[in-house]
Amino acid sequence: MSFDRSLARCSFCGKRPPEVGRMIAGPGAAYICDNCLQLCNEIIEDPTPFSPKALELASRPPVVIAAPQGLNQELTGEVIAQEPLRNITIELEQKQHGMTVMLHQLQLYQKHFELDYLWIRPPFRAGFAFVPRIIFLVRDNIGNHWAGDRGGMLLARPELASDPSLAVYQGNARFSPPPSPDAHMITIRAADPLGMFEDPPLHTWNFEVTL
Ligand SMILES: [Zn+2]
Repeated sequence: MSFDRSLARCSFCGKRPPEVGRMIAGPGAAYICDNCLQLCNEIIEDPTPFSPKALELASRPPVVIAAPQGLNQELTGEVIAQEPLRNITIELEQKQHGMTVMLHQLQLYQKHFELDYLWIRPPFRAGFAFVPRIIFLVRDNIGNHWAGDRGGMLLARPELASDPSLAVYQGNARFSPPPSPDAHMITIRAADPLGMFEDPPLHTWNFEVTL
């Protein structure tokens, strides 16, 4: 398929040629701008496997490549359908074992729901081969339960940390299907994925949210 290079956008940050110094074209519709290339070099030079910069880059939302003319209408329709049907502000926080979980908001979509949270904890030490994510178990008051879907994101937010010994991670967990209209309350249990290796295993954070 041919691709109009005037529609080029950096695949890492989404910026277009006027907004960047240099743009390097890769195969197909892949591009990288000079700023993102610089960031990649900094990540390579940092010996920490999941440095804040690497986490930030890995957790960016995917860049949507401009579609050929004619498909725009369809794409626009899709974007509108992805807006949440309802936002529920939660703002609950609980501290346990020197770590705080803050639930920020619940977003209800047509086919799933998402939970935005902050996880304030000692920074992950070098040597993690993966980014651990909080394990959620959600139940509603009429007997349905959900484990989180795969995916979601975890973003390092060093600028939010007020205590230098703690790191702030911003996470997003997805669950499907959405709660039924009959449900008026959900309980959210959150577990530290590494806490299961403690002896005894760490307790979970427990939250109740009115829908
Ligand atoms: Zn870029």
